Amino acid sequence: MKDRGIRHGDRRRQRDAMVQQQIIQRGVQTPEVIAALRKVPREKFIARALDEFAYDDAPLPIAEQQTISQPYIVAFMLDALQLTGHERVLEIGTGSGYAAALLAELAAEVVTLERYKSLADEARTVLQTLGYNTVEVIQSDGTLGWPERAPYGGIVVAAAAPEVPQALKEQLAIGGRLVIPVGTLDGQSLRCVTRVSEHDYQDEHLTQVRFVPLVGEAGWADLDNTPPGR
Ligand code: SAH
Repeated sequence: MKDRGIRHGDRRRQRDAMVQQQIIQRGVQTPEVIAALRKVPREKFIARALDEFAYDDAPLPIAEQQTISQPYIVAFMLDALQLTGHERVLEIGTGSGYAAALLAELAAEVVTLERYKSLADEARTVLQTLGYNTVEVIQSDGTLGWPERAPYGGIVVAAAAPEVPQALKEQLAIGGRLVIPVGTLDGQSLRCVTRVSEHDYQDEHLTQVRFVPLVGEAGWADLDNTPPGR
């Protein structure tokens, strides 16, 4: 059986090797997170020309000068969310849709927001093709969250924020976790903000990361003024 020139069994082996070397050996332990990474075909979320790099230990370019994150950092963030499988979760920065597919394996419902229409449309198509019908992809400014479907048992932000957007804290369920890179454009602290009660939050530093900017009302200004609605 052919799959873009690379056999299906080879894909399985590449994915298993990726999970073993990049995810398990670096300390990710949650069985559900590991199973999700073993299952979701990352090659479907990238351009054909990058096919051979699908399971590399690196972020890869996607359209609109954005990136699909490094598998390890995605796994690390999913691990930090500590999902039980019953939650509705919110993702900011759909990008390719890869992390949304992983979230769909780990939660009951996924709402994912992307500022570029082209990326949102493309991700929606791929996710539908793969049968991820619990994921809703919406073109919107994620710095404002998506109050219509709040509260969320977990929120994950895949772009670098200057500070934690207030709307996201407010849309978190009590006991829910928000995982978000906060800092400058050169580097960020990955934070885990837990809503412990209606008015109280715990904020923990997890690790140092580097993401593309979160551009929006409660994020960075659009430096090149690219209209996201193309
Ligand atoms: N989770 C993605 C990685 C996306 S990279 C994946 O698995 O492929 C970060 C994404 O955040 C980019 O696509 C970027 O366009 C998007 N983004 C940046 N600011 C945003 C905002 N305010 N709202 C929604 N998406 C935003």
